[in-house]
Parts: sequence; structure tokens; C-alpha cells
Amino acid sequence: MTLPYAEPLTKLAPGPRVIPEPPRVGEPGGDPCGLCAWISDPAASGHEPPLWQNEDWVLCRATGITIPGIVWLTTREHHDSFADLPDRVAASYGGVVARIERAILALGDIARVHVYRWGDGSAHFHVWFYPRPLGMLEARREMLALWADLMPELPKEVAVEAEQKIAAAMRAGDPQP
Ligand SMILES: [Zn+2]
Repeated sequence: MTLPYAEPLTKLAPGPRVIPEPPRVGEPGGDPCGLCAWISDPAASGHEPPLWQNEDWVLCRATGITIPGIVWLTTREHHDSFADLPDRVAASYGGVVARIERAILALGDIARVHVYRWGDGSAHFHVWFYPRPLGMLEARREMLALWADLMPELPKEVAVEAEQKIAAAMRAGDPQP
């Protein structure tokens, strides 16, 4: 693993703790949850519709991505973390993540799909999918997110092509009426 910075870096000590922490988006005292507004009416919020959705989950495109296939998954309803998911939603999580992982891997030239949950920005449950490009050993483990932040933004058509393939694969896996 390699940091995407040149040496020498200087090690920092952690700063003083900030308690109570400032409210996140979508929790009491914070900004209202834009995700809830978008999911209930994508057109009204001026954003594109999701890549795929079912009764519990919504798969979303990210903006300004640097690696084809970076997407994120959120819950249709406002829950914070795994600990807060209703049983039905929690039970379906693994299967939905597996479908998304397969759809991303099918793009090709991907060593592994990293699934990240941070939750420090918005209090509406969401996980990120970061495909690690095949052979990009310097971006193994937690380094991928750092590299992805610093790499050049993809041309829009490249990002959209990958998103459309993922969306098509997800739709193809839906139960047929
Ligand atoms: Zn919400």
C-alpha cells in the first residue's frame, strides 16, 4: 500500500475531542435530509433518478468520480446505521450488496470491490462501492479512497457508460413479473 503523496509526510497528533459533535445532515439540529427529499421525488429536487431501486434500496450515481463503477447504495427510508435498520431491510442487505458487487465486477479489469460505510456526513444510511482497478496495488485496502480522491475526474461519458452497465445488470437480476 502506498499513500498518494510524496514523502516526507509529517505525523500529526490527534486534536482535542469535539463533544458534543456537530449534528450531521438529517439528524436533529442538522440540515434537513436531502436524500429523503430526492428519493420521494427525484424530479422535484432537480437531480437524476437513481440507477436502480426496489422496495427497500436505492442505488445511486456519484458525481465527479475518478474510477468507473463508483456508486453508492442507500435505504429508501430514513434509517441511520445497521443498528437501526428494520429486520426486513437488514436481511436483504447482503443479497443486494452481492448483486451490486457482481454488476461492478462485470465491468472488467477490477481486482476487488471495496464496500465502505462511514456515515459521518449524512445520517441517512448509505454505503459506498469503490472498485479497485486490477493491478493498482498501491490502492489496496484503505488507500483506495485516498487515491480515488486525488485521481483525475473521469470523462462524463466513461462514468455514464459504467453506470448504465451496472443499472442494466441490476434490472436484469430483478424478479420478473
Ligand atoms: Zn433521510
